[in-house]
Amino acid sequence: MEKIVVIGAGVAGLSAAVRLQKLGYNVHLYEKETQVGGKMNQIKQKGFTFDIGPTIVMMPEIYQEIFTFCKRDPEEYIPMKKVEPMLELFFREDAPLLFSSDLTELTKTLEAISEEEAQGYFHFLADIYKRYTIAKKHFITQSFRGFWDFYNPKSLYAGLRLRTFNDAYSSISKFVKDDRLRKSLAFQTLYIGVSPYQSPSLYTMIPMIELFYGIHFIKGGMYTLATSLDRLFAELGGNRHYATPVEEIVIENKVTTGIKVNGEFVAADAVVCGADFPYAMEKLIPDENKRGKYSNKKIAAMDYSCSCFLLYLGLDKKYPESTLHSIYFADDFKKNIDDLFDNGVLPSDPSFYLYRPSLMDETLAPKGQEGLYVLVPVPELSKYQDWSPKATKGFRDQIIHLIKERSVFNDIDEHIVMEACYTPKEFERKFNAYYGATFGLKPTLAQSNYYRPHNKFDYADRLYFCGSSVHPGAGVPIVMQSAKLAVEELIRDDNEAN
Ligand SMILES: Cc1cc2nc3c(=O)[nH]c(=O)nc-3n(C[C@H](O)[C@H](O)[C@H](O)COP(=O)(O)OP(=O)(O)OC[C@H]3O[C@@H](n4cnc5c(N)ncnc54)[C@H](O)[C@@H]3O)c2cc1C
Repeated sequence: MEKIVVIGAGVAGLSAAVRLQKLGYNVHLYEKETQVGGKMNQIKQKGFTFDIGPTIVMMPEIYQEIFTFCKRDPEEYIPMKKVEPMLELFFREDAPLLFSSDLTELTKTLEAISEEEAQGYFHFLADIYKRYTIAKKHFITQSFRGFWDFYNPKSLYAGLRLRTFNDAYSSISKFVKDDRLRKSLAFQTLYIGVSPYQSPSLYTMIPMIELFYGIHFIKGGMYTLATSLDRLFAELGGNRHYATPVEEIVIENKVTTGIKVNGEFVAADAVVCGADFPYAMEKLIPDENKRGKYSNKKIAAMDYSCSCFLLYLGLDKKYPESTLHSIYFADDFKKNIDDLFDNGVLPSDPSFYLYRPSLMDETLAPKGQEGLYVLVPVPELSKYQDWSPKATKGFRDQIIHLIKERSVFNDIDEHIVMEACYTPKEFERKFNAYYGATFGLKPTLAQSNYYRPHNKFDYADRLYFCGSSVHPGAGVPIVMQSAKLAVEELIRDDNEAN
């Protein structure tokens, strides 16, 4: 193979393009938007700079590895600082909890509750760490192309040792009794858009990864990763085609031969698709006969992650310092979660997340001012659709009221000088996220590992997929890993063909 087309300059597509170009292929990267990054995007207005999507840098070594793979110094492209304390959690009726990846500080937080709870918490961490090492070796860093890649004694034994059948909240509850601690270890399943009361318990590895490896901040914000990957791709000689939507992936006799752009056929030896998998099935391979089990009916009926409502607020004053990341739990968290995933309504008392990037990097707001990023989990579009201007304004006002009531931003409505908003509709329209589900297909057991769409397409040769809706799943480091797996699959086929 020589010429490879990559579809989508989200972080997965960018990562795949960089790797393939470095390996000597002639790579053409197509992106529908003018700006790279996909959901990892940026708004710049009136001197304020906001990340649109991801903000929490976990597993920094995965971010750095792609630069070292290309013989570059990661520090030159994505300089990082560790965030300390990591996170503060707020509860309506109870005192807040401050979390640190410094063991001494963490122990102080836990012992302030009780020594017994501290013991349970550490016991939980040891247990999930063991399961994480198994998952990393057998599932996260492996792709599954055929039945026997999964149904072999080694994988099945590893699967059993993961003990993944419990939900996250119940599995944590065996170790700790304090409800705040339970929530502190459970809510992170929302980072991948799944309910803590339904998610496979294995995903409680997320808070463990935060605590053991720390949370980091990239200078300039998360968007620095997108622009740095784009820069690296250009330095390596990659071909960039931005503001150029791909119209079709062309498959003839079960072999992918190229793409259609502006009504014209563009030939390629292979295609790597980083656009959302369900969208790509439905829209980029319009002939259902060419995509095996992925009929339009099946795609529409699959289980999708929740979505997000976001406000980006430029404020003409600086507020008292607090943590970079903070979470405000709804009084009735269980009801809040049921509203998102089962009832399909906007939560009446939503939990929300605040992010204050200008605390870490002053260049992200004008002098003496500050930018506030507000994220509220909401249902995806098959469950709730009314994002009319009136409904959006109503929800926005409700959130501003909650922020005033519960955080240091107690007069925020008098100080907003710049405002932007993203609803699930924007994620659907701008980045072709199916149902606007910000984390793609929901990582239920029935949609994980072998059962998640594969990195190598099952129904046509020379077609590979990366990104949130395929194996191993959502989140920046995980989609970077999916790009690595898709590239490894392509190379395996290329070597076998030679
Ligand atoms: C609000 C929010 C907060 C998040 N927070 C975190 C976090 O703190 N930490 C973390 O690790 N992860 C976080 N995530 C998840 C993370 O952002 C995603 O998992 C990751 O960015 C997905 O990247 P991707 O490349 O798979 O998909 P995308 O970013 O969706 O990329 C797909 C790209 O394909 C392009 N495209 C689509 N169709 C076409 C076409 N026909 N032709 C050409 N191009 C096309 C799109 O425009 C887009 O650029 C968050 C996500 C959101 C939305």
